[in-house]
Amino acid sequence: MFESIEVDEAGLVDEIARLERVKSAAAAGQARLTAVLADKRRAAEAAAGVPRAKQCRGLASEVALARRDSPVRGGRHLGFATALVFEMPHTLAALECGALSEWRATLIVRESACLDVEDRRTLDAEMCADVTKLDGLGDARITADAKAIAYRLDPQAVVDRAAKAESERTVTIRPAPDAMAYVSILLPVAKGVGVYAALKRAADTTFDDRSRGQVMADTAYERVTGTPADVADPVAVDMVITDETLLGGDDVPAILSGYGPIPASVARGLVSKAVSDERSRCTLRRLYRHPKSGALVAMESRSRFFPKGLAMFIGLRDQTCRTPYCDAPIRHRDHAQPRHRDGPTSADNGLGECERCNYTKESPGWRVTAGSGENGVHTAEFTTPTRHRYRSTAPPLPGSPDVEVTELEIRIGIAIAEQDAA
Ligand SMILES: [Zn+2]
Repeated sequence: MFESIEVDEAGLVDEIARLERVKSAAAAGQARLTAVLADKRRAAEAAAGVPRAKQCRGLASEVALARRDSPVRGGRHLGFATALVFEMPHTLAALECGALSEWRATLIVRESACLDVEDRRTLDAEMCADVTKLDGLGDARITADAKAIAYRLDPQAVVDRAAKAESERTVTIRPAPDAMAYVSILLPVAKGVGVYAALKRAADTTFDDRSRGQVMADTAYERVTGTPADVADPVAVDMVITDETLLGGDDVPAILSGYGPIPASVARGLVSKAVSDERSRCTLRRLYRHPKSGALVAMESRSRFFPKGLAMFIGLRDQTCRTPYCDAPIRHRDHAQPRHRDGPTSADNGLGECERCNYTKESPGWRVTAGSGENGVHTAEFTTPTRHRYRSTAPPLPGSPDVEVTELEIRIGIAIAEQDAA
């Protein structure tokens, strides 16, 4: 927009700064509107006799869809908005004038979450009443300052929150570049430091041609799986691959179920290891795709138990939760139109969803319809209580429509987390 106008460099920097303030002000505006929406919804549901614990169910997902964000972030946006607008006026004002970004305001709200309303107001005033004090503070300083105030105001609440956080310990996996994966363990700090120290000790006492990082990663794998890192141990994974990629003539990536695309050469490596290792097992199943769109339309039956085959088909077709922007792993393969409203048990009416989204679509006012078009592409339409509609389509299979596609179940030792047993 500025290429054709004569603006000097200082003017360009001023404009970049101005637009940053506009982003903060827009975030403040979204927070105000979100809080009003939550207030209206709660009042309407209370008047209709909905118990308090069930009020605003699914609202986080509505906010997420409107903001093109995942439901998990929608929940954060909703909590952020109600806290800012109803309890933290100074933080809201700092966001509005651009002294805080949306993320930094979120950090302050997060650190104050364990406090009661009165203490929260005190923290709000101390942090943000004088916005000049926020100048030059990065994310880490903002978090540390807010933490220190929260601890001074109510040490017990901070300790209680730490105890609650401990119950949220978990393990997650997400794809990393170059056919690698991050496996993260969320642990209480003492245990987390303990795990890291044990791996470092292994690196300190191992002398071979591996780097410290390699020794630590191999040791973690060995202690978790009980198998040396260089020995393949049967773990079942599902992979979708075109025949041409499998036979070496093509470089179309394969899709590893629960992970995403992997390079053709890596996929071929897994298959050749599986067929040359006698403890491994490799079963094939042909998938049929629509001749024009490449959508998955059918698959060869490998199991006589129909619902299991159907669930597998839906998982392969959808790959991740079908709510727009969600991307969470599929936990439920369920009816789009529920069975109690005469929804059929069929591939067309089936939908892969994460746990959270599956409960959301059962909330009052939500309606989900699903079906395949003439091109074989499966589409789901989500209608929210405010009558807004959002669509999602199932991803196409790898490769072009005229290439045959095969699904392989390979049992081979590879360093990714085992998927939920089907
Ligand atoms: Zn979801």
